[in-house]
Amino acid sequence: MSQPPPTDAALVLFSGGQDSSVCLAWALDRYGRVETVGFDYGQRHAAELEARQRVRAEIGRGFPAWAGRLGEDHLIDIKSFGAIGETALTSDRAIEITGRGLPSTFVPGRNLVFLTYAAALADRRGLTHLVGGMCETDYSGYPDCRRETLDAVERALNLGMEQGFCIETPLMRLTKAETWALADRLGGETLTRLIVEESHTCYLGDRSLRHAWGYGCGTCPACELRARGWAEWRGEAVAT
Ligand code: ZN
Repeated sequence: MSQPPPTDAALVLFSGGQDSSVCLAWALDRYGRVETVGFDYGQRHAAELEARQRVRAEIGRGFPAWAGRLGEDHLIDIKSFGAIGETALTSDRAIEITGRGLPSTFVPGRNLVFLTYAAALADRRGLTHLVGGMCETDYSGYPDCRRETLDAVERALNLGMEQGFCIETPLMRLTKAETWALADRLGGETLTRLIVEESHTCYLGDRSLRHAWGYGCGTCPACELRARGWAEWRGEAVAT
């Protein structure tokens, strides 16, 4: 794949979690202008939304070359969509695997909705690349994270908006350990430490427990995935 011209501009779907923080760094490394969009769909906790602002601020402080490229942040209220999902993230249901084999944290079609809002915003802002942290490697049973789904969405958006958007998914084929390695390659220890300290992944919104891989309850599926990826990456780093 050839490098896009640095004059290209991108919109990163940015939740403040580990994956989208790496995507933000990836985009800042490639594009001349990068804006971020986040969605408030009635998350049970505000930790994620607070993490977004901390990660943006620290990336600006730690990477002067990227600071000039980092543009506006947009937060879109889609609480009415979250209400439809009625999942463990937005109500008091337990996090479990449902009868359909999907985690109860799954909001049906979430990425379809995110990308439609993002594309409408990108159209108005003159941004051509939509960057998201979707990944089918550590497959959690989210059918809207599959590249096949995203190819179909890209086609629908371009037809429906008379546009030439490109949906970029730099983490699609990476394991969680490889995502840590990508962060290291992009921004070294400054970036990996920033992601450990400031990004937020825990489904329960826990910021009171500090682990080597960051803050979180340590037992929810999101924490387990993050912890396992961290251990695998550190193990490899020690072995080489
Ligand atoms: Zn957790």
